[in-house]
Amino acid sequence: MLGIDLGATKVVSGLVAADGTILQHSGRVVHSNDGPNGVIRAVAQSARSCWDPAAAGPVRIGIAVAAQVDPTEGTVLHAPNLGWRDIPLGALLAKELGVPVAVINDARAAALAEWQHGAGVGASDLFFLSLGTGIGGSAVVGGRLLEGGTHAIGEVGHLTIVAGGRRCHCPNSGCFEAYAGGWGIAERAQEAVREKPSAGRALLARAGGVSAISAQTVFEEYRAGDALAGRLVGETERYLADGAVGIVNAFNPSLLVVGGGLVAGMPRFVPVIEAAIRSRCQPPAAGARVETSRLGENASLVGAACVAREIARGP
Ligand SMILES: [Zn+2]
Repeated sequence: MLGIDLGATKVVSGLVAADGTILQHSGRVVHSNDGPNGVIRAVAQSARSCWDPAAAGPVRIGIAVAAQVDPTEGTVLHAPNLGWRDIPLGALLAKELGVPVAVINDARAAALAEWQHGAGVGASDLFFLSLGTGIGGSAVVGGRLLEGGTHAIGEVGHLTIVAGGRRCHCPNSGCFEAYAGGWGIAERAQEAVREKPSAGRALLARAGGVSAISAQTVFEEYRAGDALAGRLVGETERYLADGAVGIVNAFNPSLLVVGGGLVAGMPRFVPVIEAAIRSRCQPPAAGARVETSRLGENASLVGAACVAREIARGP
C-alpha cells in the first residue's frame, strides 16, 4: 500500500507493508499558492518517486490531509492551511496516478495507525490526541473509529477552555488550541515579548524577531533555563491538563495516545497530562492509560496506507 501525508508545506509518501512498516519514503515541499492543481502535481511526483508502476504494478493509495474530509466522496471539504474548499482530491489524484485513491483526515489517519500498528494495538476504546500546530483528535469506541455527522468528530482543539478567551482560527473563541496548540503558544509568547521586551531578550535572540518566535523557540529557551519560556511552558501545561481532563471525561477511553510535533518537542507534556487525568477525571475515567504515540511523525502516512488497504478489500 502507498500512504501519503499532505500538510500545508510538505507532502510525504511511503510504501507501507501489511505490518505497518515503512519500506521506502520520499518527501516534497508543496506551495499552497500553486493552487490545487500544482499541489496535486507535487503529490503525484512524491508518490511516483517511491512507487514505479512499471516495475511494481498497481498499488492502492490512501492520502491523509490536514482538512475536513468527506471520505466517501474523497473530497476535501475545507482545508484552511491549503486554502481549499470542496476539492475532489481523490478523483483528481486517481486520474493523475491511474489507481484508486482513498482520502482521510490526518488526525483520523493517525488514530487508525496507532490503533492498528502503534501504541493502541488491542485497545477497543482509545482516543488519539494530536498536539501540533493545531490540536486534533479521533476516537475509537467499541472497536470502531468514530466518524460524525459531517465526518468531523473529535475536533477537540476547538473545545472552549477559557470563556470569552483568545480568538481562534475557527468562529469560536477561548479554544483549547488557541492556548495550547503550536500557533497558540507562539502567539502567547509573541504577546509576552511585545509587552515586556526586557523579559523576552533570550526568545528574541534565538528567533531573530518577535514574529519569528514559535512554540519550538519557547521549548528551546525553556531547556536553556529562560524565565519567560519557563512561565509559558508552565501555563501551556495547565491548559493541556484542562483540555485532556475534559476529553477523557467526555470520551472515556481506556487508552489516551498523545502524539504530534509538540510532544516530540516537549515530551514532558505527556506525564503532565497523565497526572491531571489521574487526579481530576471522574473516578472510573481517571484510570485511563496514557501513552506517547509510537509512530510519531509517520502516524498519518501509515494510517493513510491502512485506509488504502480497506478499499483494496472492498465493501
Ligand atoms: Zn477554535
